[in-house]
Amino acid sequence: MTFEELEIIEPILKALNAEGYSTPTPIQEKSIPSLLKRKNLLGCAQTGTGKTAAFAIPILQHLYNDKNLKSGFREIKTLVITPTRELAIQIQESFTKYGKYTGIKNTVIFGGVKQGAQTEALRRGVEVLVATPGRLLDLMNQGFISLKHVEYFVLDEADRMLDMGFIHDIRKVIAKLPNKRQSLFFSATMPLDILQLSQKIVGGNPEKVTIQPEQTTAEKVEQSVYFVSKRNKPKLLTHLLKTEEYESSLVFSRTKHGADKIVKFLKGAQIIAEAIHGNKSQGARQRALTNFKSGETKVLVATDIAARGIDVKDLSLVINYDLPNEEETYVHRIGRTGRASASGSALSFCDVEERPYLRGIQKLINQRIPVIDDHPFIADNEERPAKKKPTQGQGHPRPKKKPRYGQGAKQGSGERNNNNNRRKDSNRPSSKNRSRSRAR
Ligand code: AMP
Repeated sequence: MTFEELEIIEPILKALNAEGYSTPTPIQEKSIPSLLKRKNLLGCAQTGTGKTAAFAIPILQHLYNDKNLKSGFREIKTLVITPTRELAIQIQESFTKYGKYTGIKNTVIFGGVKQGAQTEALRRGVEVLVATPGRLLDLMNQGFISLKHVEYFVLDEADRMLDMGFIHDIRKVIAKLPNKRQSLFFSATMPLDILQLSQKIVGGNPEKVTIQPEQTTAEKVEQSVYFVSKRNKPKLLTHLLKTEEYESSLVFSRTKHGADKIVKFLKGAQIIAEAIHGNKSQGARQRALTNFKSGETKVLVATDIAARGIDVKDLSLVINYDLPNEEETYVHRIGRTGRASASGSALSFCDVEERPYLRGIQKLINQRIPVIDDHPFIADNEERPAKKKPTQGQGHPRPKKKPRYGQGAKQGSGERNNNNNRRKDSNRPSSKNRSRSRAR
C-alpha cells in the first residue's frame, strides 16, 4: 500500500516524500480512507504508531479541497485537543510538515506561558488550532477564539486527558462545537468512562480502528548475559567475535581508555576493530564510522556518548563489554540492533561489581535476561553469585582452577539458562507477561 493508493493529493504527497515516508503505517492505512469519506473515527492507539499523520493528512486534504479556503479571513476549521504542551507542539509541527505545500496555516496554544504570542497568531488567522484544554477555554472565555466554524475536531489521548482531570474542560469545549462536524477520538485504552465520553463526541456508530503498540526494543532484541570476571572479559570477547555469526558488531565500553584497550587486544587476536570516543578527532571518528558502515570494519568499539549518532542498518550484534551504570543507557544501547530487521542480539558481560547494575536493568525492562552458562570463561568462584558454603565435613571446596573451553565449564542450574543455543531461550517470559512501556 502506498500513499498514492490512499488517494492523497499531490501537495501532501510531496511533503510526505520530503519526510521520507514511503508507506503508510497500519493506523494510517486503516484510518485515512474512512476519514477521507468524512466518517467519525474511534481510534484505540497510542503515540508512536503514526497516529498524528493518520488524522493530520486527511484533515489537511479536506481543508485544501475546501473552496472557501483561499479567500477571506482564515477561520478555525480544525480543532485538535491534546493533554500536554509537548504533545500539542508535536502535533502542530506535524501539521506544519505535512501541510507545507498546502498553504494551510496552524498554531498551537498551551498554558504556563504568556498568552501574547498565541493571541497574536490567532489574530492573524489560522485554519488549524492545536490546544491543551485549559488555555483553550481561557482564550475562548476572553473572546480570542470562536469555535463556530470548526468542521474537524480531534480529541487526542483521551484517557490521559481524563487522568489529568480535564473532563469538565472538555465538556465545556464540546458544548461550543457546531453539531455538523467530523469527529475523531483517540485513546490508548478504552475503559467504560472513556467509551461513554467517546459516544458523546463521535456518536454511536463511528469507524473503529485498534492498533496494538509496537513491541518495545527490549522485547524485540534477543538478550543474554555472561557472568565473567573482569580479567576474563578480553578472552570472552575475542572468543565470541571469533565464534558468533554476525555481520557487524558494536561493542560498548564505559570509558574511552577502556575502548582503546579493547581495540588493542582485538588487534592482537587478528580481529579488525576501531574505536570511536570523545578523545578521537572528528575526522578519525568519521573514518571509523564510514569503515564500519561499509562493512570494512566488522567491530566498532564505542563509548555511550560517541555512539549516540550511530545509525547503522543491519547491525546484528551489540556487546556490552561493560554494563552501564544507568539502566536507560542499556535500553539505548541494545536499541542499536534490531532496527532494520525484526530482531537483533545483545550480549552483556557482567562481572561481580556489575551485578547491581544488572538487577537495575532487569527491573527497568521488566525481564530476566537469560544467562549463558556454558561459555569457556565462567566467572571463577569468588565472582559468581554467592552460594551457601558447605558446612564442615560436607562436600569439597570447589577448585579455583579456571575451567577449560569445552570441558569443566559449569552447567547452570535453576533459573539460569544453560541452553547451548542462545537463539532458543525458552526461559524468556512471554510478551504477555511483560509490561509495555507506554511511549508518550
Ligand atoms: P506518532 O505516533 O504520530 O507520534 O508518530 C510516530 C513517528 O512516526 C513520528 O516520528 C512520525 O514522524 C513517524 N511516522 C509517521 N508516519 C510515518 C510513515 N508513514 N512512515 C515513516 N514514519 C512515519
